[in-house]
Amino acid sequence: MRIGIDLGGTKIEVIALHHNGEILFRKRIPTPRGAYEATLLAIKSLVDEAEQETGQTGTVGVGIPGTISPFSLRVKNANSVWLNDQPLDKDLSQILNREVRIANDANCMTVSEATDGAGAGSAVVLALILGTGCGSGIVINGKPHNGGNGIGGEWGHNPLPWMDEEEQQIAQMSPCYCGRSGCIEQFVSGTGLCDDYTRRSGKHLKGHEIVALAEQGDEFAEQTLQAYERRLAKALSAYVNVLDPDVIVFAGGVCNIDRLYYNVPKLMPNYIFGKEFHTPIRKALHGDSSGVRGAAWLWPL
Ligand SMILES: [Zn+2]
Repeated sequence: MRIGIDLGGTKIEVIALHHNGEILFRKRIPTPRGAYEATLLAIKSLVDEAEQETGQTGTVGVGIPGTISPFSLRVKNANSVWLNDQPLDKDLSQILNREVRIANDANCMTVSEATDGAGAGSAVVLALILGTGCGSGIVINGKPHNGGNGIGGEWGHNPLPWMDEEEQQIAQMSPCYCGRSGCIEQFVSGTGLCDDYTRRSGKHLKGHEIVALAEQGDEFAEQTLQAYERRLAKALSAYVNVLDPDVIVFAGGVCNIDRLYYNVPKLMPNYIFGKEFHTPIRKALHGDSSGVRGAAWLWPL
């Protein structure tokens, strides 16, 4: 049995998977925000419960909103800041009495989609997680590419390439929280999409409301989505020009916008070196569950 834990900023989810992928147990609890010791104990109680309910012991993989630094061996880059600078994998291995594998949550989602989701059967899978923020994961032959600095797949805080005048103005007006400006995340996250509609219309709407308005012929909503598709094509093309994956998966809330799968591939050749682009772009198959499933799959058979 494989146990996966998705350690999020607001909830901790556990899943226990049979070797054939069947879900044996699943539970969500609120994250003890700000409390590291309590977070460790909450994870232990979930693992204990999964094992009691199923009568089996399992391997444990954990997805976190950050990464373990290969140098300090402590968590870094977590927006759940109480995890930062803690030796989380060591502490969990100790408290659970077994080796625990930890990976970045975007990498876990990509592992899930590469294992039995939208990227199954492909050697090199790139998943873009387009939600409140934006991140990405790279899986090569079933394994997440963490990288020598532990930042493999960190994409959102590179600058948007081939900026037009409007994009340069946006970058100058609103610096990113990371301290730089013009970051990809500011343009292609779900938050970036909504901010762009507000800039054009003066109104605050959710992503699905903007999509519905565009379908009704609303000019600002249509402009927003067209600009979004162009920006996503630019940011993704620069990625493809380096990695050239076998399949691309969109995950996160924005992945539910169906027109992206028609319009973005058409725009890609404008920015791809050599203009040839035939890589499939697919919607994540496991949706919200990809993170916790991928954490379980950190332990192969
Ligand atoms: Zn940034």
